[in-house]
Amino acid sequence: MQARVADILKDLDINPAEFENGDLDVFSPIDGGLMGRVTMDTKDTVDAKIAAATEAFKKWRAVPAPRRGELVRLLGEELRKYKDALGALVSAECGKIFEEGKGEVQEMIDICDFAVGISRQVHGLTIASERPGHHMREYWQPLGPVGIISAFNFPVAVWSWNTALAIACGDPCIWKPSEKTPMTALACQKIFERAVEKFGDDAPEGLSSVIVGMKDIGEQLVDDTRVPLISATGSTRMGREVGPRVAERFGKTILELGGNNAIIVTPSADLDMAIPGIVFGSVGTAGQRCTSTRRLIVHEDVYDNLVPRLKKAYEGIRIGDPLKPGTLVGPLIDKASFDAMERALEAARGEGGQVFGGGRALADEYGDAYYVNPAIVEMPEQSASMCEETFAPILYIVKYKNFDDAMAMHNGVPQGLSGAIFTTDVREAETFISHSGSDTGIANVNIGTSGAEIGGAFGGEKETGGGRESGSDAWRAYMRRQTSTVNYSRELPLAQGIKFDL
Ligand code: NAD
Repeated sequence: MQARVADILKDLDINPAEFENGDLDVFSPIDGGLMGRVTMDTKDTVDAKIAAATEAFKKWRAVPAPRRGELVRLLGEELRKYKDALGALVSAECGKIFEEGKGEVQEMIDICDFAVGISRQVHGLTIASERPGHHMREYWQPLGPVGIISAFNFPVAVWSWNTALAIACGDPCIWKPSEKTPMTALACQKIFERAVEKFGDDAPEGLSSVIVGMKDIGEQLVDDTRVPLISATGSTRMGREVGPRVAERFGKTILELGGNNAIIVTPSADLDMAIPGIVFGSVGTAGQRCTSTRRLIVHEDVYDNLVPRLKKAYEGIRIGDPLKPGTLVGPLIDKASFDAMERALEAARGEGGQVFGGGRALADEYGDAYYVNPAIVEMPEQSASMCEETFAPILYIVKYKNFDDAMAMHNGVPQGLSGAIFTTDVREAETFISHSGSDTGIANVNIGTSGAEIGGAFGGEKETGGGRESGSDAWRAYMRRQTSTVNYSRELPLAQGIKFDL
């Protein structure tokens, strides 16, 4: 694997020798082989990087926003140049297929384009003042250094969603990537530095940095009062730890946590559209997307038509090396993920589930890697184990009779990230996206649960954490709202008509 990765690094204009002598071994899920070694940060280096970001903030906030956008534009240009190579490194380090690796880099390019536009649209409000001769305005000011914590499954896109907006908004970034995917993070940092070189001297040192390490390094970032915003993407378990710690010091958070996403298939659904949507959503990225389809709620009239067709589609899925053309499903990230999948299938059997597929694949060829056959589990009802997110390709299927029951099951889990309905009935479609419909942050009609566009705000409710990133007005989370009243008269009328005679 090291030789393969060396070629990818050369395509990224990175000397492979830079990843030979660290204290953290990085293994590829493709074959379990060593990819490289990276140097972990210490308490002191983390402290120094936060201090540098704090200094950088003083300079960067004074650079006009459209000029800040120019740096993001240059970052987008560099990402275009390295799209294939970075996509391949993503595949090698987290195991998603090359097409998805490149797709992730395309998302980075898209958010850069979006953020360049935002850099010329950082606008506030003018508000009618109740006092004569007064102007009231709302400004959005740069906030300060942003701490970014990211998960292994989107090792580069999540950074860019945060960084492109934060940099345009005037905030330096300190990134703690997953300890499972530090090489892609260090490659992104190099790409950022190349954009900075082209940008010129008004980009201060310390504008972007990466801190490599385990949970303790993340905790140091989380607890540091110099970092007003922590944007954390990962499991709900992580969010439960990070959220209260940041709140304790009155910091802000964007929490992007676990999902448990369902698709409802109604009697009027176009199954030719539904089937590829369901299969891509449930087996794509080996079921390791926060938006992966985990639950299918199918009307009894279409159940016996849909389920055999799904099983047939599952039998044709090509599992294998994610960098090889034609592969649709790569490996799970590690043995712990495989064990979790096994446990979940066992629990489902205990709840009366009929399991189709599952189990290890390609074990002879890849003894140290964890490829699996995606599983379909027909359940008698929505059970306790269906309410948990197992980060693996398991699709639970339940039948429903009436639409209200389907909606209740759809919403009857603790997570609230993404949901979808396949229907050609306008009443069902509109109800699904109404106040009494899906309680998720993302609610789709006639497309699946996974794969979001940059232009919309991304995130979910309940145990998904409530954060929003990426498009729409998500940029505001990276800024400080300031209400300002200016008196241009020669009087000093007090608010609410108060008289205060001295
Ligand atoms: P994880 O929670 O194990 O780790 C995520 C990151 O948090 C890592 O960088 C880790 O080192 C760090 N971390 C863990 N505990 C911490 C703590 N106490 N303080 C500071 N940092 C801490 O998640 P994972 O296994 O890498 O990723 C899979 C999970 O991420 C799934 O639950 C998935 O749904 C979720 N996810 C959510 C989104 C979203 O946008 N909602 C996107 C991608 C992944």
